Amino acid sequence: MFINICYFLTAILFILGLKKMSSPTTAAGGIRWAGYGMILATIVTFFHGHISGHESAVTNYILIFLALGIGGGLSWYSGKKVKTTDLPQMIALYNGMGGGAAAAIAAVELLKMGTIKDSLKPAKEAMGEIAKTDIGKQLIEQSQAAIDHAISGEHLTLGLLGAFIGTIAFSGSIIAWAKLDGRMKKTFEIPKQNLFNLGLFIATILFGILSFYTLSPIALFFFFGLALVFGVTVTTPIGGADMPVIISLFNALTGLAVAFEGFVLGNAAMIIAGTVVGSAGSLLTQLMAKAMNRSLANVLFSGFGTEGGEGAHTSETGGEMKAIDAEDVGVMMAYAEQVIIVPGYGMAVAQAQHKVWELSKLLIDRGVDVKFAIHPVAGRMPGHMNVLLAEAGVPYDVIYDMEDINAEFTNSQVALVIGANDVVNPSAKNDPTSDIYGMPILDVEDSDNVIVIKRGRGVGFSGIENPLFFGDKTKMLFGDGQAMAGELIQAIKQL
Ligand code: NDP
Repeated sequence: MFINICYFLTAILFILGLKKMSSPTTAAGGIRWAGYGMILATIVTFFHGHISGHESAVTNYILIFLALGIGGGLSWYSGKKVKTTDLPQMIALYNGMGGGAAAAIAAVELLKMGTIKDSLKPAKEAMGEIAKTDIGKQLIEQSQAAIDHAISGEHLTLGLLGAFIGTIAFSGSIIAWAKLDGRMKKTFEIPKQNLFNLGLFIATILFGILSFYTLSPIALFFFFGLALVFGVTVTTPIGGADMPVIISLFNALTGLAVAFEGFVLGNAAMIIAGTVVGSAGSLLTQLMAKAMNRSLANVLFSGFGTEGGEGAHTSETGGEMKAIDAEDVGVMMAYAEQVIIVPGYGMAVAQAQHKVWELSKLLIDRGVDVKFAIHPVAGRMPGHMNVLLAEAGVPYDVIYDMEDINAEFTNSQVALVIGANDVVNPSAKNDPTSDIYGMPILDVEDSDNVIVIKRGRGVGFSGIENPLFFGDKTKMLFGDGQAMAGELIQAIKQL
């Protein structure tokens, strides 16, 4: 009872925490609330009958403390050390750990079920002739009924389903981490990839069915092994700008796996937390796919961006980038009626958000209408730009989502693109052969002038060339985002 009340409180803290995370103003508080929920759920574990009331209670406690020490220590250290631009890969890694933990629980439970299932055989043998008597038969029947109750069809099905999706989320997230961290090529495809994946999927399901009926360790070994490989092969071809969708999909899968295993263990906190994560992740996946104008099937099976690879494309326009200096841009912006600032991943790398807001305030003081345009997949994680702008103190009423701001570019004299690339790439609209064709973009070209701050000719995440940089209206302000924002501030102050 006490444990269930604590789990209920945990669930409330998780849900309220998640609710608070939906707005940048309350997000930090939301993380803390969810964290308190997790601490409560962890403490309660110590009082669980399976752990404290067991003959190996001391060993259990030692193992738990060891796991808490190692896991807590590592995550505390990496949490302190991580740069904000590296957060997405860290999230991918932690998400993978969640899926892996759910799969590990499943493995233990399924093997346990296998042992229980097999336990009647030696008992029958030991009973010898007694097994043939009425009492013997009755005893065996009762034991069989108890075993059937302990390993019901629902438990087995959910355990296997949780194992399958948890394992895929584990290996897939590790690949996503390696790609985001630059340790692995963004895309990697083998011939007939979809056919290969389909074969692998069917083989995994067949071993899953075999495991359902036999619970044999060999069937389980192949079932887990194939699911592990499937997670890898389904993720390796995904690249281009599709990573946000796949990361949120794995997040949803991890939640679902945890919920299924919670059911197997009879753990209410796991069921609720898993369901919350699963549904939040599914919604995010849908939103991300919609933002990219892609269906989930398209993301998973079409190998978006597989032709690319960093720097694979050269300018097909044959044009040249035209450089401009900060003084000229300063004048242009200071005398504009409306300036729209488009931040991207490079602003995060440069940590330029404070300088960009300082620059905006100078312009606002001069009567310029300054707006920020946020693309849903700008940066490397959902809401990346909103978090950075909130950190710099940019008020929400000057921050606009893509669908609300796109029509405004025609009324602006300057679109200042700072460290954004893919999200302003017109090939997504104009070039059906482009790897990112179909992805909605911010229509910066509708402004009278486009100023792009970036360090050089580096490509964006999708690895493709951007014709915007060679356009007639575009001028390049080459340099680090923060340094250039600083130069623009000086230029405007001197006017
Ligand atoms: P991009 O990755 O397309 O482009 C970033 C640009 O910033 C580069 O061209 C780079 O050019 C420039 N840059 C890098 N460092 C600096 C610096 N210090 N100062 C100035 N510029 C710099 O970013 P976008 O935000 O436009 O697009 C995001 C991409 O990431 C999309 O393809 C999206 O799908 C993908 N993605 C998004 C996720 C999400 O959830 N938001 C998750 C995973 C991927 P240069 O080197 O020349 O300076």
